[in-house]
Amino acid sequence: MHYPQMFSPLDLGFTQLKNRVVMGSMHTGLEEVDRSGERIAAFYGARAAGGVGLIVTGGISPNREGGTGIPAPKGSFGRFDEASLPLHRNLTQTVHRHGSKILLQILHTGRYSFAPDLVAPSAIKAPISPHTPRELSAQDIERTIEDFANCAERARRAGYDGVEIMGSEGYLINQFIAPRTNQRTDDWGGTFRNRIRFPLEILKQVRARTGEEFILMYRISMIDLVEGGSSWPEIVELARLSEEAGVNILNSGIGWHEARVPTIAQAVPRRAWTWVTKELKSQVSIPVVACNRFNMPDQIETSLADGEADLVSMARPFLADPEFVNKAEVATPERINTCIACNQACLDHVYAMKTCSCLVNPRACHETIFATTQAEVTKTIAVVGSGPAGLSFASEAAARGHKVTLFEAENHLGGQLNLARNIPGKDEFDETIRYFSNLLESVGVEVRLGERFSGADTAAEFDAIVLATGTSPRLPDIEGINHKSVCSYVEAITGKKPVGRRVAIIGAGGIGFDMAEFLLESQPGCDTELEEFLKKWGIDSHWASDEAGQKSGLAARPMPPSPKRQVFLLQRSREKFGRTLGKTTGWIHKAEMMLGGVKMLGGVTYEKIDDEGLHISVEGEAQILNVDNIVICAGQNPLNELAGLLTPAGIEVHLIGGAKEAGELDAKRAISEGLKLAEKIGLHTTAGQQE
Ligand code: NAP
Ligand code: SF4
Repeated sequence: MHYPQMFSPLDLGFTQLKNRVVMGSMHTGLEEVDRSGERIAAFYGARAAGGVGLIVTGGISPNREGGTGIPAPKGSFGRFDEASLPLHRNLTQTVHRHGSKILLQILHTGRYSFAPDLVAPSAIKAPISPHTPRELSAQDIERTIEDFANCAERARRAGYDGVEIMGSEGYLINQFIAPRTNQRTDDWGGTFRNRIRFPLEILKQVRARTGEEFILMYRISMIDLVEGGSSWPEIVELARLSEEAGVNILNSGIGWHEARVPTIAQAVPRRAWTWVTKELKSQVSIPVVACNRFNMPDQIETSLADGEADLVSMARPFLADPEFVNKAEVATPERINTCIACNQACLDHVYAMKTCSCLVNPRACHETIFATTQAEVTKTIAVVGSGPAGLSFASEAAARGHKVTLFEAENHLGGQLNLARNIPGKDEFDETIRYFSNLLESVGVEVRLGERFSGADTAAEFDAIVLATGTSPRLPDIEGINHKSVCSYVEAITGKKPVGRRVAIIGAGGIGFDMAEFLLESQPGCDTELEEFLKKWGIDSHWASDEAGQKSGLAARPMPPSPKRQVFLLQRSREKFGRTLGKTTGWIHKAEMMLGGVKMLGGVTYEKIDDEGLHISVEGEAQILNVDNIVICAGQNPLNELAGLLTPAGIEVHLIGGAKEAGELDAKRAISEGLKLAEKIGLHTTAGQQE
């Protein structure tokens, strides 16, 4: 077998998990909108059919005030009461049909709720919340514990194999444990033993109400990464007492949501946190789960083989590919659609109160909407351009039965993805190119690399032409724009123009920020990527083995290595920098700018460029930025001249991605447009239609 550790069953005495892979809890947004439960069942059902051993649902609150603040209407999946039991039973039966087990996650958000009537151990506002919570009374606390036990008992009746009690990421249980958020003077605060009474009482009462043959998983915060969090000896003691209280499996939580350290984003190296899990595993005798930044089977196998954990949990990789586990089992990891840790269509959607999806797999959470069906009319289609839009369309259209030829002028696939993969932390795009290359082959797309689509003559061979020709960088109208010091972001990334030590970037959108990170990339100051990450973000890697470790994993201060260059990042707008960046990752890019000493200037008017540098005025005050180079990141124009040639000739032409609309184009929109057009083309109603 290719991955013997990953596919070794786990025996819990009263029940067995068929492999060591857990699908971690994710809120999808379907919890509130799916009144029939069909979409939820299709979503989890596809992952169970894909071979995962254990699934944990998105967090369900044990009571009204513990919710996220997004109202779950009566009868919806997210409002877990007697009325919604049939929806939950339908889900557990669907998952069981495929031989997987499923736990309901019970999550009380405490001071992280978006609702104004939120509660917490003490009335201390979270830095990421607009509201100050009400302090729970002792009576409220007893009732909340009972609500957890009631919820677990209802989960048992709904057919769940167990529950996960969410005790990490800074939610209510974590808020009781840490002095940062628990300043009570009664029996629920003060000493460590008092602060951990709340989780231990919940675990004991859940066990008592659900019996011995029911999986009780506790997600413990193994490293808080905030001031005033738990110390390492406290975490070990809580883990041991949880085991005594009847917990079967310890899942790991890494960092509170308010921590200013990235824990799951692209900036985090793969398997970055397993050193913490390994330490805790040595302190308890129950199975321990590792998580965060696993996205391929070899990492899971290594972690299990090296004794870092007994199970590995992944959440987002199951949005990217529901068949992850099956593909590993038949030794075809090269066919896995790999999560690139961008958060763009999953967490960013959830925080914007939109249904979750996935940048590389727009079908995620939309399984009943984008079902793959054969085309009614099969066509011979030419796709021009192999960026994300072209790759997505070509593979989906061929899977639906069309005969597809993909033209790419370069000698390799990927288009703009080949630029993005050079940005620090974005090399995960290599996996996307690898995935689509293999997929094109398996669905029978004819790929013509190094071949420019020549126009009407070639077009005559096809029923339809799909132009996915992308964009070209926009050159702003500034005096001296053709000066030798000026280059486009494409020229800078590809190395076509060397860039000096002092650089001004015109345009502070997503690409401007990416360019700054590209230019800042420091000289390697550490032996490994992990060591560099820990140093840069101020994480004490000796913490878990240090008996005196008190600072929740934080070192005295971040120690970023010296950046290569002095960078100026400029925008005309007076608005806040980075407002178009991702909701859950924008703060990381802004922190990178601070760590790299980038000077950000807003409200800029560009006057001219000459041998002295870039002449600007800010609030009417003239200044010269004496820089070696000026990199233009001022947006793009669509590249679609071919449409003007083909359409008048009566040829069926479709535009997707940047070729259709350059503004706000990213890989998420490009891939999604490719899928949507492929679903539509070849229906009787669209035959001959032009776009
Ligand atoms: P963008 O986000 O639209 O930013 C273009 C920037 O250029 C703006 O800062 C704009 O700011 C400036 N600009 C526009 N016209 C200009 C002109 N004529 N002269 C001078 N400056 C001008 O576009 P992008 O940065 O090219 O990104 C393209 C897409 O990729 C976007 O949708 C973006 O969200 C996405 N992307 C996202 C990320 C990420 O989230 N990390 C990374 C890469 C790309 P002012 O008008 O204020 O000067
Ligand atoms: Fe992963 Fe990005 Fe998809 Fe989220 S949107 S699951 S981070 S690839």
